[in-house]
Amino acid sequence: MTVGGGVPPGLDALLPSTAELYLDLHRHPELSGAEERTAARFAERLVADGFRVLTGVGGHGVAAELANGDGPAVLLRAELDALPVAEETGVPYASTATAPGPDGRPVPVMHACGHDAHLACAAAAARWLAAHRDRWRGTLLVVGQPAEETLSGARAMLEDGLYDRITAPDVVLAQHTAAFPAGMVAHADGPLMAGSVTMEVVFEGDGGHAATPHLTADPLLAAAGAVTRLPAVAARETDPAERLLVTASSLRAGDTGRTGNVIATRAELRVTVRALSEAALVRGTAAVERVVRAEAASAALPPRVTVRELARSGVTRPDPGVTTAVRAAHQAAFGAARVTGWPASSATEDFPLLTGAGGHLHGRPGIRGAYWMLGSVGPTQWAAAPGSGPAEKFRGLPHNHSPRYLPSVRLTLDTGTAALVTAALAQLDPAAR
Ligand SMILES: [Zn+2]
Ligand SMILES: [Zn+2]
Repeated sequence: MTVGGGVPPGLDALLPSTAELYLDLHRHPELSGAEERTAARFAERLVADGFRVLTGVGGHGVAAELANGDGPAVLLRAELDALPVAEETGVPYASTATAPGPDGRPVPVMHACGHDAHLACAAAAARWLAAHRDRWRGTLLVVGQPAEETLSGARAMLEDGLYDRITAPDVVLAQHTAAFPAGMVAHADGPLMAGSVTMEVVFEGDGGHAATPHLTADPLLAAAGAVTRLPAVAARETDPAERLLVTASSLRAGDTGRTGNVIATRAELRVTVRALSEAALVRGTAAVERVVRAEAASAALPPRVTVRELARSGVTRPDPGVTTAVRAAHQAAFGAARVTGWPASSATEDFPLLTGAGGHLHGRPGIRGAYWMLGSVGPTQWAAAPGSGPAEKFRGLPHNHSPRYLPSVRLTLDTGTAALVTAALAQLDPAAR
């Protein structure tokens, strides 16, 4: 037995096939929107376990259903996509994969966010629940969602009719790996992750000679001014308790590359606004637009400004009732010492769209969601991390999206599978309802 005494029997036997799937997915990561092989592997497992399986939902999305009598419909959600990151973990199963980048040149690809672990755990939980239909009543749904990292896949699946093509869920469950001790899970009281808006700001002028800067608008100067002024939206206009974050994350400008004597015609700025409440998100987004337009307007020859919203995600705020039930199930399975709290983070997710928060897309505002964090750091990596206390070690460890992010295979998969199975049973087991 590698997990707690309250874990349903038979989960240990799943580990070899779960690890095989995980290692295969880890070696073959695919970028957001290109998850063809990953989706096929996930779907074939669910077909083998007797699910009715739809593929190609909103891109490479997979949706599976297993009806088992009267009861609620519970959806387990995992993500299919990986990141343009060059793996540096040094493990034998490290990814060496590349894929065409935005300009057609190959970029490295890595499962640096743990989505391969989420998929393997969801497939294993589905296998256990399919094999133990005597333990529950209701409908089990499993979704492999594409393009989470670009915050577009959940919307694409819903717009492709996800909840009309499978039974619409009553409850949606998901988990995410994070760099705290493997073997543990963590739940939040209140919001778990921030909502975000990603914006593209384009400054445009007519260009000109660097020797006559007074004759033309300068998009680069306006963009640079905006970059230095934007942090003040959070630092000077926002109650620190709101946890609003404004990040200018990329700036491209200049047309010639090599010469220094041409004034750019165009500067493109990407800005992300994050916050733990929708109201702060709305205010922050409006402030970004005000600042970039004001920077441009301050010039004698102002560049033209276009502001476009590229992506948006809501605040991940798990349902208190479902969370209480799932947390209690996890405490019973793992023991209270392995179930901890989680402070809200500024990371972001498109998971809320699959719950009632996406009611504008699917028309079902009553869908409740629970979401918890899954520890991924094995004992050796934890011991080797610099610092003495948990807070220092947490800072020193490689986190999600790092080229050195490395989940402990056995502990992460065992715990993640058991966490999903027990969470699903807390909704589907007639004795637990
Ligand atoms: Zn990620
Ligand atoms: Zn992720």
